[in-house]
Amino acid sequence: MPGPKLLILSCCAPCSCAVIKKMADEGADATVLFYNPNIYPSAEYEKRRDEQRRICEHFGLKFAELPYEPEEWDKAVAGLESEPERGRRCSECFYMRLKKAQDYALEHKFDALTSVLGVSRYKDLAQVNASARRAWAESVKPYWATNWRKGGLEELRRALIKELGLYAQTYCGCKYSLASSLNNRPSGENK
Ligand code: SF4
Repeated sequence: MPGPKLLILSCCAPCSCAVIKKMADEGADATVLFYNPNIYPSAEYEKRRDEQRRICEHFGLKFAELPYEPEEWDKAVAGLESEPERGRRCSECFYMRLKKAQDYALEHKFDALTSVLGVSRYKDLAQVNASARRAWAESVKPYWATNWRKGGLEELRRALIKELGLYAQTYCGCKYSLASSLNNRPSGENK
């Protein structure tokens, strides 16, 4: 009997590589969904999307992309532009992407969903999970709110980033995080 059909919402290759390798090693029926209208500018979006596709192909996992719609993201975070990272703008950003992933999961008959949006140490996993609970409130599909940093996955992630030479972005993704990273984050450090 085939295992459950799992959908993994991913923000980028560096955050998802260890989970992708784990799923591939376990022979899971998993698909990586790339829905990131938050990423700015479009050239950066394409770079991250191409890296995401590259590691899916490398490990033999399915890859799906939803249309890039930055105007929709602008609407979703309107009024929250000056919020800090981990603030209310991020909750809306997570919610919007997770909600779209939920719709995709229902439409394509996935059994369960998860995301790697909380993998980076710059992210608050509890905040991601709270947005996921909101997005999944009316769904019959389970959201798998596991901590993908545990069980050796953080170490594996760091090793794979080096081994595969993954593009290491220095900001979360949106235009506001780009502006603040120019002032705060050490150059070359992954998000
Ligand atoms: S900092 Fe990251 S999570 Fe927060 S709004 Fe920007 S892209 Fe979204």
